[in-house]
Amino acid sequence: MSKFIFITGGVVSSLGKGISGASIGKLLQLYGFKVNMIKFDPYINVDPGTMNPYQHGEVFVTIDGAETDLDLGTYERFLDIYTSKDNTNTAGDIYRTVIDKERRGDYDGQTVQVIPHITDEIKRRFCALKNEYDITIIEIGGTVGDIEGLPFMEAARQFQIENKKEDVFSIHVSYIPYIAAAHELKTKPTQHSVNKLREIGIMPDMIICRSEKGIDEGLKKKISLFCNVKQSNVIEAKDSRSIYYIPEMLKNQNVDKLIMEGLKIKPKHSFDWSWIKEIKKRSESLEKKVSIAVVGKYAGLKDAYKSIHESLQIAATQHKAKIDIDYLGAEDKDLIEKLKNYDGILVPGGFGLRGVEGKIKAITYARENNVAFFGICLGLQCAAIEIARNLAGLKNAHSTEFDPKTKSPVVTILSEQKNVKYRGGTMRLGNYTADIKKGSLAHKLYRKTKAEERHRHRYEINPEFIEALENAGFSVSAYHKGMLPEIMELKNHPFFIGAQFHPEFGSRPMKPHPIFEGFIKAALRNKN
Ligand code: GLN
Repeated sequence: MSKFIFITGGVVSSLGKGISGASIGKLLQLYGFKVNMIKFDPYINVDPGTMNPYQHGEVFVTIDGAETDLDLGTYERFLDIYTSKDNTNTAGDIYRTVIDKERRGDYDGQTVQVIPHITDEIKRRFCALKNEYDITIIEIGGTVGDIEGLPFMEAARQFQIENKKEDVFSIHVSYIPYIAAAHELKTKPTQHSVNKLREIGIMPDMIICRSEKGIDEGLKKKISLFCNVKQSNVIEAKDSRSIYYIPEMLKNQNVDKLIMEGLKIKPKHSFDWSWIKEIKKRSESLEKKVSIAVVGKYAGLKDAYKSIHESLQIAATQHKAKIDIDYLGAEDKDLIEKLKNYDGILVPGGFGLRGVEGKIKAITYARENNVAFFGICLGLQCAAIEIARNLAGLKNAHSTEFDPKTKSPVVTILSEQKNVKYRGGTMRLGNYTADIKKGSLAHKLYRKTKAEERHRHRYEINPEFIEALENAGFSVSAYHKGMLPEIMELKNHPFFIGAQFHPEFGSRPMKPHPIFEGFIKAALRNKN
């Protein structure tokens, strides 16, 4: 039977509840506990797959093909686990389950209501992993007081009273703003937020105070008094240079011991310091420098490329390099001029025509100037279009996603995708095997001939155009089932590679993804 830690948020969103929860999970993992995390998002979308990245940030994909919140990427990277459909929930998905049951007649004449039917379904999902893990951390998205969050808070309250006190630990992550004019940190918003939580019937056991500045004992005392939480359990969480330093920051304030006391659990072994030490060691001696341009549609929003950002950073650290990552708008008219300042160019995944011609121009620049290039999903598709147009003489080459009538559809939709009625959850999703050709650049990077990689796309490199692309020097170095290109690479170029899948989901802080690692290595070599 699992123990449960609930994480709720107060005052504002984007406080890093996921990072706080994952950091706590990491500490407990380093005592030998098996830990997993489950996310609950109170919005009505069945999953974030149909949402605009401007609203929601990156869509993370699990190996079993769930399109999820980017927090699951944080869970995977911190805890070195693979999440699945069981780790992700939304109000839309929960209501759909309940409504489907109602339509089947499973409720046997009852009136179906938020309490108990929706809350029962939420509670059932709290327990999805309880048999396999010692500790389940439940993160409830949004902020206390949101209307749509209420059923989740209510389910958490019920869960607390239905279980023993020592089986459930409740943490509230709140914000302590600094008012510059008064030179003061203010606790009032946190007081209100905890009051709201207590109105619902949840007493937090710990408050994690996010702020730009440190919280002194006087302030902790005040929060303790007004929020009914022991002073020792008021924790400071200042902004940190690296998110991977946060577990240690929390450990220095005894968060691990306080939680183990609260849950009445004994460490399985003494604390294993190796992860924390290694993280520090890696980020200490960064003697080199590397700069990467990510040419995408969502240049203004770093969260839209969260896993790519993390993967680049991890790969650079592995090569002892400090990295500058800039997001350049594909529609920027000075794009090519700007690209001259970078050691490597990455074109990420994406949907829709906007910015595609800019991405293609950036690829021409990388190809002609021997700049390290890495295309991911749409980035690979754009590389295929670029090479078809400029090296294979197929002037009007395009993807049928952008020009359905093109005479040279180098990227197209294959049969099973042709008749999809619903946009949500119907792409090629999750893990597929790539068979890597011996002797290729891909093989040099992976050092193996089989890899499982995560997909999220509808379109594919058109098998009918592979010969033309290969004759132009852009060859397939990995196939799925001998038919669908997974990786392609350009001959006679220092580093020019594209993947149909999303390698960014596979990086871990100590284990960069091989293609990212090779890309950074090539960018460093390329330095002008
Ligand atoms: N829009 C392209 C497709 O559906 C690429 C998707 C992506 O980059 N994730 O195939």
